[in-house]
Amino acid sequence: MTLKKIGATLAATALALSLTACGGGSTTDLSNLKIGIKFDQPGLGLKTGETYSGFDVDVATYIAGKLGTTPDKIQWTQAPSAQRETLIESGQVDLVVATYSINDQRKEKVSFAGPYLVAGQDLLIRANDTSITGVDSLKGKKLCSVTGSTSAQQVEQKVPGVNLQNFSGYSDCVAALAAGTVDALTTDDTILAGYAAQPEYKGTLKVVGRPFTVENYGVGLKKGNTELCNKVTDAIKSMLADGSWQKFLDKNLGPAGYKPGEGNPPTPAACS
Ligand code: GLU
Repeated sequence: MTLKKIGATLAATALALSLTACGGGSTTDLSNLKIGIKFDQPGLGLKTGETYSGFDVDVATYIAGKLGTTPDKIQWTQAPSAQRETLIESGQVDLVVATYSINDQRKEKVSFAGPYLVAGQDLLIRANDTSITGVDSLKGKKLCSVTGSTSAQQVEQKVPGVNLQNFSGYSDCVAALAAGTVDALTTDDTILAGYAAQPEYKGTLKVVGRPFTVENYGVGLKKGNTELCNKVTDAIKSMLADGSWQKFLDKNLGPAGYKPGEGNPPTPAACS
């Protein structure tokens, strides 16, 4: 082969390689996965030292396994409520498994696989408070939630003019509630159950137990990556079918006495 021909062959090979690398522009390297979770929600997504635990962590680890990613190749990233879309859009994470409700507004920016759990928005109050019995008794009360959450958005719609303070994470709200600077924390019943079961809050905080929304938890990923979305959907289906879903629930939310309500076990929808 002449030098010129070798050069041409190499160039063609390089071109073919680069075309494969960005084929369709959506191929995710599945041997390493960056997954966004919550770091401060016991029972769901919690970072303790260098250990990650909770239902979302188990679900994410299971899905990663089905995609061919071993647990040691998962890079956990904190995904606060208000940052989830941006983390996905910028490619800082491949998946978000972080008590992330599927809704139309978010679907404009990201795609969702799921639901993998159905929760409902509720209230956490001090155990000795008899004045708050549900979303209809919040007039004049100081409420706490999180920026960028459906919880904050929906309570403002349901209780116009509500006195709402938003933090960046729910654990800040729990501290404020225990300290008496707010009267209630509103978000998903799953999250509230996890806090109420913490030894320091047992007997001092309680969940009202009257959910007033439906929260379909989905796995968020880059908008339009149908290939990845379909794989994640298949993984969720096998998690539900092989008993893992129930096992993860019992392990993580069982100790808090949380029983999933209507809509569970969920039926994953087509990717959207
Ligand atoms: N599931 C709701 C949401 O996605 C509330 C919980 C959260 O903020 O993570 O906004």
